Amino acid sequence: MEQSTPPPPPSDEDREAAMRIERARDEAERLAASLTRLWDGVVDAAAGTNNDDEHDPEGSTLAFEREQLRARRDQVRAELEALDLAAERLREGTYRVCERCGEPIAPARLDARPTARTCVPCASGARR
Ligand SMILES: [Zn+2]
Repeated sequence: MEQSTPPPPPSDEDREAAMRIERARDEAERLAASLTRLWDGVVDAAAGTNNDDEHDPEGSTLAFEREQLRARRDQVRAELEALDLAAERLREGTYRVCERCGEPIAPARLDARPTARTCVPCASGARR
């Protein structure tokens, strides 16, 4: 019968990483919320201007703004997903291991970019 060993208590390093991920997530959530508010504003404005004049010069500006907002929002969503994945990797103990080559990821890289999943050589394409 297999004995499962209890997971080791999180190290200080892990706790710090978890906090960093959590903070980055809060920030991304706030950004997502404000982008949604901006989005609603642009949609309302578009509804107000498109009613009677299709050639309103504001129309194209709004369309452009909407595209910008959509792109930004997609970015923030991707960031949130990456942060969730980082938290999961941290729980599974694979957070500091390069996804590609299995080598450890430099702590400084994870400090600067908590969502990094590959080591510097892999990310820069130096290692194949
Ligand atoms: Zn690597």
